[in-house]
Amino acid sequence: TPVTIIITVIGVIAIVALVTVAVLQNRPLLQKYKYGIVLDAGSSHTALYIYEWPAEKDNNTGRVEQTHSCKVKGPGISSYAAAPWKAGESLRDCMREAKLQVPKKRHHETPLYLGATAGMRLLNKEDSSASDLVFKAVEETLQKSPFSFQGARILSGQEEGAFGWVTVNYLDDRLKQGLETTGALDLGGASTQISFVSDNYDGSESPSNAVTFRLYGNDYNLYTHSFLCYGKDQALRMTLAQQTQGSSSEISDPCFHPGYTDTRNYSVLYDSPCVSSRKPQGAPATFIHRGIGNFQQCQAFVKSVFNFTHCKYSRCSFNGVFQPLLQGPFGAFSAYYFVMNFLNLTDTSIHSLETVKEKLTSYCATPWDQLRQRYPDVKIKYLAEYCFSGTYILTLLTEGYNFTSENYSNIKFIKKIKGSDAGWTLGYMLNLTNMIPAEAPDTPILPHA
Ligand code: AMP
Repeated sequence: TPVTIIITVIGVIAIVALVTVAVLQNRPLLQKYKYGIVLDAGSSHTALYIYEWPAEKDNNTGRVEQTHSCKVKGPGISSYAAAPWKAGESLRDCMREAKLQVPKKRHHETPLYLGATAGMRLLNKEDSSASDLVFKAVEETLQKSPFSFQGARILSGQEEGAFGWVTVNYLDDRLKQGLETTGALDLGGASTQISFVSDNYDGSESPSNAVTFRLYGNDYNLYTHSFLCYGKDQALRMTLAQQTQGSSSEISDPCFHPGYTDTRNYSVLYDSPCVSSRKPQGAPATFIHRGIGNFQQCQAFVKSVFNFTHCKYSRCSFNGVFQPLLQGPFGAFSAYYFVMNFLNLTDTSIHSLETVKEKLTSYCATPWDQLRQRYPDVKIKYLAEYCFSGTYILTLLTEGYNFTSENYSNIKFIKKIKGSDAGWTLGYMLNLTNMIPAEAPDTPILPHA
């Protein structure tokens, strides 16, 4: 009958459409996927990441992929201390996007996590009730979502460092195969992390820097340290604090370009636990911040925020913190990547440490109006700070962590690995969903006779 013919035709069209979608997306037909969502509440911004993996293969390495990310409009949640409800509201647009990205029938079983890092660590230190209110506000928004909200909390610096390392090595497929691992260098706005495996570190010297993992049947003794206040925004505050000790009404800053001027507020600059104790007495309300663009002089100021005087261990990075001998390749991500990418210095096989210094010398000396003309689309705050940020990165890596001309090329500046952003979020989710088994899935429990 005509009705049967119509139904058959519709059926055929539907099957062809399904197959086409599957082929175009390079997916097995009718493969079921699971999803997980992590919000990275950083000091300067919040980002939402959606991960996806085939439903039957939760345990397989390298199978979890980032399918979507959303940058929350506005500043990081710690900036809403004076109006906490706005922190909750700020997440709404990205949550709406997430609802569209994850298939509706998966919503209720999709875990949703929020992890806050150094911005909230600082707020918690300064005003713990304000930090509690910010958490209450974001929890209220996230609880209202259709996803399975698993909680919002501050990650410790150790967790932030260790999960960044897990992410990098998981995405590179290094864990399941028991290959030499890649160290992780993460630079945020308020803290910075270094994490790596070193043959001469078993965790006995400075145990607070040790994280031990058993993953896919391999044991790892990871060294990790997070330096609070050594993210690039707080490091800039410390460097400026160094220059405003005389409570003058004007400073000539070698880390900013010639021709750059801005009026800055003393109380705003010193409003952070990283510098508050150094606020000069009797300073005027504001000072004129003038650039003079000199890399060498800038580096001298930057160096002065690191303390190298004491070390009670066999070796230290800075501020008396133990660090074993650097070993293996490193991936440097987040702000390391943003800054080095802008300066065209991500390829360390071409750009040696010496080239980086030369580039920064000429870049910092470039007049401000020339840069504004050359980069009209770059956010002014970022553009103004790349000279400082580049100098800070170089100094942190060499003077701080002891990278040299010989091993500098072991560092790769990366944003993504196989489509997923490098950062702590993926490692955090893999851990909380038990997606990395301690034992290799195909290892026999008893050895074969
Ligand atoms: P957080 O918000 O703590 O994760 O820190 C991110 C850091 O990266 C902050 O210092 C931001 O200012 C910085 N950042 C983000 N995007 C860029 C960019 N395009 N160029 C330079 N710095 C950036």
